[in-house]
Amino acid sequence: MDVDCEGCAGCCVDWRPLTAQPSDHERRGPHEPLDDIYNLVPLTRAEVRRFCDAGYGDALVPRLWTAPTAADDAVVVDGHRLAAVDGQPTFFVGLRKTPKPVAPVGTDGERWLRSCVFLDPTTLQCRIHGDGLYPSECADYPGHNLLLERETECERVEAVFGGDRLLDDEPPESVEGLLLGPQALGEKVFVHPEPDALTGIVGRAAAGTLTSADRAEFVGWAAASAPGTAEHSERHYEEYRETVLSADSWVTDAVETWTAWASGEGEPAPDADAAERVEDAAGAPQTPGWDAVE
Ligand code: SF4
Ligand code: SF4
Repeated sequence: MDVDCEGCAGCCVDWRPLTAQPSDHERRGPHEPLDDIYNLVPLTRAEVRRFCDAGYGDALVPRLWTAPTAADDAVVVDGHRLAAVDGQPTFFVGLRKTPKPVAPVGTDGERWLRSCVFLDPTTLQCRIHGDGLYPSECADYPGHNLLLERETECERVEAVFGGDRLLDDEPPESVEGLLLGPQALGEKVFVHPEPDALTGIVGRAAAGTLTSADRAEFVGWAAASAPGTAEHSERHYEEYRETVLSADSWVTDAVETWTAWASGEGEPAPDADAAERVEDAAGAPQTPGWDAVE
């Protein structure tokens, strides 16, 4: 597996506004995400805890799914029929996206596009690449897709913008975090044990307007999950919920600034200097640039 990521960031940015034929790959199959985040990075339970422990609980966001009308286990909250296990709504925890001025997938000129909070808009490199927080899903990308014989984001970028991104499509011998079926429960797919507490929250999840308290509610239960089961540790739920509520990393400052500043998705945006003023000034870790990694 070999990819050309320089100037791409196709898997870190929602580049759909740049094309007339946007991919809707995350909305195929019986369970559709309730939100409209593109390429959410699902984290394992251990990774969720690691982000919280590092003070980045404010960088996390849950994803719920809608269920087909015939699903027995579905739970209806705020008018949405949610996928569930034993009456407990299921969810992922991933990384938040926020509008940033970026020029991804080989395009010229910055546009406002929803991007992973950890993407450096100037270099299009990951601010946590190579440190202990780097998600296994990102480290292995597009290894999971190749192993499962599914189209990769690299190929979607090639199809729309040309060029060669996926230079070698040989699947890796093994990847971390590829959890399928029952073994994913409590490790990557979590359940919320109190659906009655989700009134109002589910509506905000669908509208993309979750509050920090809403996000803390899900992250707390994910961090408190027991692997392979739908059980939780109440003590860890309280502990991690509080950790998220008190998180105040540079991510919160940057998201607030970008959100207030951004115009419509895909519209022209300020250049790289703005990114330095916003994220570097807020305390974001630096990225090395592409010369340093070649
Ligand atoms: S879409 Fe592929 S080539 Fe582009 S940044 Fe992601 S892994 Fe790299
Ligand atoms: S964590 Fe890094 S590699 Fe993963 S989506 Fe975010 S910016 Fe991209």
